[in-house]
Amino acid sequence: MHMRGGAAGLSGALALGRSRRSVLVLDAGSPRNAAAGHVHNYLGREGTPPLELLEIGRGEVAQYGVRVTVARVETVRPWDLPGIGFVVTTDSGREVLARRLLAASGVTDVLPDVPGLADRWGRDVLHCPYCHGWEIRDRAITVLATNKMAAHQAMLFRQLTEDLVVVLTEGCPRPTEDDLERLAARGVRVVADPPVQVSVENDTLRGLRLASVRSSRVTPSWSRQVSEPGRSSSRPSGSSRSCSKWVARSSARSYLPSPPAPRRSRAFGSQAT
Ligand SMILES: Cc1cc2nc3c(=O)[nH]c(=O)nc-3n(C[C@H](O)[C@H](O)[C@H](O)COP(=O)(O)OP(=O)(O)OC[C@H]3O[C@@H](n4cnc5c(N)ncnc54)[C@H](O)[C@@H]3O)c2cc1C
Repeated sequence: MHMRGGAAGLSGALALGRSRRSVLVLDAGSPRNAAAGHVHNYLGREGTPPLELLEIGRGEVAQYGVRVTVARVETVRPWDLPGIGFVVTTDSGREVLARRLLAASGVTDVLPDVPGLADRWGRDVLHCPYCHGWEIRDRAITVLATNKMAAHQAMLFRQLTEDLVVVLTEGCPRPTEDDLERLAARGVRVVADPPVQVSVENDTLRGLRLASVRSSRVTPSWSRQVSEPGRSSSRPSGSSRSCSKWVARSSARSYLPSPPAPRRSRAFGSQAT
């Protein structure tokens, strides 16, 4: 039995170990949430750092004879005898035979290509209102919209703050009229203006600079938090899988061109394609 060792893989290993299966966990050691400070919404372990949670998990599975090895699986092929199992080859060239295989390799986040954004991932560039929402409640939030789920994402974050802006990135489909109405009804401003830089000061996200706004015209009193719906998971490079959201937090200024209320729908209507 061979698996990967994030939260899902170790959970599977625990159940199988307790069922007296012979279990080997092969784990490359890069869990998706490694950049986050704490794990939330996990009853009994609320607020535990992600790597600490995995260490606890490794201790638990060890009680049942499960072995955990740091290794990246490179290939899997059928065992020579058909129907018997698999041959798994790791990055060190080791071959392991297994009757059954449980793949729990997680997902890989592909971040929007905005300078400065990847450096803040998991800290103040975030993806999930349920994972991090409480920590950023009542703060200024900007949703970076990259796909049609953006309006949905914005409505989730609107539950956490009254200070919310949606920035439509290039290529993002125009929200439907229904979505625009719903966002406007909740006081969410929508701007079609490509982001060009995540601004950071003193190791804190300060704002999002937009293409049409020159730095000399920055309005320093504004504060926005960045979130991007619609694209997946957490490693800045590598294979892309699914996911659909992003959250980031900022505390001071957002380089948006105008005050929110008067230009809420006009900003979108005049710029979106
Ligand atoms: C920034 C951030 C914060 C998050 N916060 C929360 C939260 O608070 N609460 C919550 O419920 N969820 C949170 N999530 C979602 C969280 O990542 C998942 O709940 C959890 O990590 C999923 O566990 P997993 O085991 O499926 O995947 P992962 O944790 O990603 O584990 C997959 C493992 O498989 C390994 N692997 C991949 N390919 C191979 C290979 N070829 N060979 C060997 N090993 C391989 C990886 O190295 C990794 O160790 C967060 C996600 C992010 C990005």
